[in-house]
Amino acid sequence: MTEKKLLDTLDSFAHRGVAADLWLRDDDATEPTSALDQLLALSDRYAVPMTLAVIPEPTGDALARRLDSAEKIDVAVHGWAHRNHAGPNEKKRELGLHRPKDTVLAELQSGFEKLQNLYPGRFVPMLVPPWNRIDPEIVDALPSLGYQALSVYGPEKAAPIHLLNTHVDIIDWRGTRGGKDHDLLFAETAERIVVAEQEARTTGILTHHLDHDEAAWAFFDRLFTLTANHPGCRWRSAGSLVEKAGSTA
Ligand SMILES: [Zn+2]
Repeated sequence: MTEKKLLDTLDSFAHRGVAADLWLRDDDATEPTSALDQLLALSDRYAVPMTLAVIPEPTGDALARRLDSAEKIDVAVHGWAHRNHAGPNEKKRELGLHRPKDTVLAELQSGFEKLQNLYPGRFVPMLVPPWNRIDPEIVDALPSLGYQALSVYGPEKAAPIHLLNTHVDIIDWRGTRGGKDHDLLFAETAERIVVAEQEARTTGILTHHLDHDEAAWAFFDRLFTLTANHPGCRWRSAGSLVEKAGSTA
């Protein structure tokens, strides 16, 4: 039913001659899998660009070869090893100050260099912190490592680097750990699109191909059927959005 809410929102954008910018970030890729094949097939079928947040330490040539034929995929840096260094009573965190700051920064530099070398044509100089958590002191140092953007989850706050956040998480992590209710997701997407226009931001959809159940996969089909050719929105690559931010900074 709220599919209509998203459609109405996009129709009103189209009437005014504006297009909402949408982008999709999919986390945790390290190697080719059947779930990754399913994701890439959706990108091909609907001609929707997607950004894979790849975990640098465990990944290698196998994933790079698999992506050779993918037309609309770019790659960002997902931490270093996706390893938790927080204490047992804390929220999981790889990029906190539980270790010396220089140790963390050295890992983030290694991750940047490894993925830039594996993906010379697809690399986006953007950091995606594991669990979407990062200490502000680490954020301050990102530009000195070559990063031009940071992507976490939730509304953008003031930061010393361009933020390209995600806002709609299709998985219900605290409940079923499966795909969220579709009507809820359409409503969240419609609401974010309106806020994003007011703030001159984008709307980021967050996915995790390795954790998708049938409901999550089915949501893609409904979302892309509705949006892929709608004049009230356009799917953007993270690369083009980061480039645009760099050129206007
Ligand atoms: Zn992750």
